[in-house]
Amino acid sequence: MPFSTLGLRDTIVNALHEVGYSQPTPIQQQTIPVILKGKNLLAAAQTGTGKTASFVLPILERLADTEIQRAKRIRALILTPTRELAVQVHANVVQYAKHLPLTSIAIYGGVDEKPQKQALIDGVDILVATPGRLLDLYTQRAVHFDEVEVLVLDEADRMLDMGFIEDINKIIDKLPSERQSLLFSATLSNQVRALAKTAIKRPVEISV
Ligand code: AMP
Repeated sequence: MPFSTLGLRDTIVNALHEVGYSQPTPIQQQTIPVILKGKNLLAAAQTGTGKTASFVLPILERLADTEIQRAKRIRALILTPTRELAVQVHANVVQYAKHLPLTSIAIYGGVDEKPQKQALIDGVDILVATPGRLLDLYTQRAVHFDEVEVLVLDEADRMLDMGFIEDINKIIDKLPSERQSLLFSATLSNQVRALAKTAIKRPVEISV
């Protein structure tokens, strides 16, 4: 099955061919059409299955469809448990968005926050962030959530294991309630399901 049958525009499909992907992985085949329909999603998928592209590609398709905003406030927010994952997810966003007029950054703790703050002030469409640093910058009013259309909780089980539940709940509280929410987790434990219940309205559930 080629990527083009999933409903992704040529500029995205071309970028995928340029990075050497010839066809979607099983999780991509199952989730991308659902996400493109605007549905909320609860997905059980391990790392290495191609889960990152499963949420990044439909986000790009959705954001590419509307006019470039002047205010450049965040329209897609991707939360990850660690700096390493934030960097890796962001690198994928950059690769796949190569031919699109969309901007993105990764923000995380353990480094100087000044460049991150400046990048947020300059404006980005897609923000990949770890929860603690994101809340810090929100408290400093460096980031605004009023234009967020899509929320992704990536590796939700690891975020919970790392004790991020309070931070995540605080962030979710500040997001527009009319949004698309996607949760990816290696396991759908009771804790993950409890988080999904507060964060995601009527999700479609997919396990790979
Ligand atoms: P992930 O599960 O998102 O960490 O992805 C695992 C690896 O698979 C990454 O190195 C991706 O670049 C790669 N990948 C994702 N989708 C595809 C695809 N459709 N074809 C080939 N490689 C892929």
